[in-house]
Amino acid sequence: MNPPSINLYGLDRSGLEQMFVQQGLQAFRGRQLMKWLYHQQRTDFAAMTDLPLSMRNWLTGHANLELPAVHSHKVSADGTCKWLLQVDNGNLVEMVLIPEQITGEGGPTGEKMRHTLCVSSQIGCMLDCSFCSTGKQGFNGNLSAAAIVGQLVIANRYLQPSGQQVTNVVLMGMGEPLLNFDAVLSATNIMKDDMAFGLSKRRVTISTAGVVPGIYRLAEVTDVALAISLHAPFDELRNELVPVNRKYPLRELLDACRHYVRSLGERRKLVIEYTLIKGVNDQPEHARALAELLRPLRCKINLIPFNPFPASGYQRPSTEDIYHFQTLLMRSGYTTMLRTTRGDDIDAACGQLVGQVTDRTRRQSRYLARVKAAAS
Ligand code: SAH
Repeated sequence: MNPPSINLYGLDRSGLEQMFVQQGLQAFRGRQLMKWLYHQQRTDFAAMTDLPLSMRNWLTGHANLELPAVHSHKVSADGTCKWLLQVDNGNLVEMVLIPEQITGEGGPTGEKMRHTLCVSSQIGCMLDCSFCSTGKQGFNGNLSAAAIVGQLVIANRYLQPSGQQVTNVVLMGMGEPLLNFDAVLSATNIMKDDMAFGLSKRRVTISTAGVVPGIYRLAEVTDVALAISLHAPFDELRNELVPVNRKYPLRELLDACRHYVRSLGERRKLVIEYTLIKGVNDQPEHARALAELLRPLRCKINLIPFNPFPASGYQRPSTEDIYHFQTLLMRSGYTTMLRTTRGDDIDAACGQLVGQVTDRTRRQSRYLARVKAAAS
C-alpha cells in the first residue's frame, strides 16, 4: 500500500526540513520549497526548478497541497466575509475575514487597510461555554495544521486581485486552540515564518478559554500574542459561563498569564476578552472586581457585547451599561477597547460561528431540542 500523501501546508519550516532529510537531501531544500509554496505561490512541483528532479518527482508522488473546499461564501453589508469550509471528514467549519480602514497614518508599513482573519482550530468545541453557539454544536475533532493554514491561503487568494492580503490572524473561530496544540503551533509557525507568510508575532493571536497547561507549554515554544477569554472576575460566575474554570480556576489562570507575559518580555501585553452579558457580568461590581483582579497583569481589555443566537437565554446589555463598564475600567487605568460587532447580519460575529458538525457528544441534540421548544 502507498504511504498517505503529505499535505505540505501542514509542515512548518522544521517539518519540511525533516521531510527532506528523511529523503537523504539537505535541510535547506525545505526552505527552498517553502518559498515556492508561499512566496511564489506555486502548486505544481514540476515548476520548482531549483529542486533536484528526483525530488520534484518524489513530491509529485507523495505530497499534496489540498485546501479545505469552499462550501459557501457570504459577504456582510459591512464587508465582513464568512466562509463555510468543508474539512476532510465532511464536516463544515467557518472562518471570517474582517476588513477595517486604518485611520491616521496607517499601519506600521503605511498600509491603509487591516484585514483580520478569524480562523477555526477545531470542528466544534469541547468546552461548552454557556454563551457561545459553537459549543452547542458539540465536537467532532481537531483540524489539521494544513486545514488551519489552508484557511489563510484561501483568504489571501480571495484578496489577491485587489492587491491586498491578510494582515492579522486571530485563532478566535471555532474551537479551543490550546486543545489542538501541535497543529496550532505548526500553523502559527508557518504564519510567522519569513519564508512563508511573514506575519509579525504581534499579529498572530491565539485565544484561549483558559487551558492552563497549554499556556505554560506555549511560553516554551512560541511568542505569538495571547488572548484570554475571561468573562468573569469571580470563580463562581466563571464556572457557570466558562466551565473549564472548574478545572483551572482564576488564580491558576492568572498565574499562567503572568508567566506567559513575562516570557514575551519587551513590554508586550496580554489581551483580556470579556463578553458583556446583560444582568450576568455587566454590573459596576464586576468592572471593579475585574480591575482589581487584573492589577498584577500587563494587559489590555477587549469588551465584546454579547452576540445573540437562538435560545441562548442571554441578552446584550444596553449601550449605556456597556459604556459605563468601559469607563470604570479606563478610569482604573486599563486600555479598554469595545469590539464593534461585525458581520452579524450573516451570523459571522463572535460566538455565532457554528459550521456543521457531526457531533460526537450529545450536546447538539439537547441544544436543538431547546431551540425547538423556544420556537413553539
Ligand atoms: N476557544 C477560544 C477561541 C474562541 S474565541 C476562546 O475561548 O478564547 C471567540 C471569542 O468570542 C471568545 O472570547 C468567546 O468567549 C467570545 N464569544 C463566544 N460567544 C460569544 C457571543 N455569543 N457573543 C460575544 N462573544 C462571544
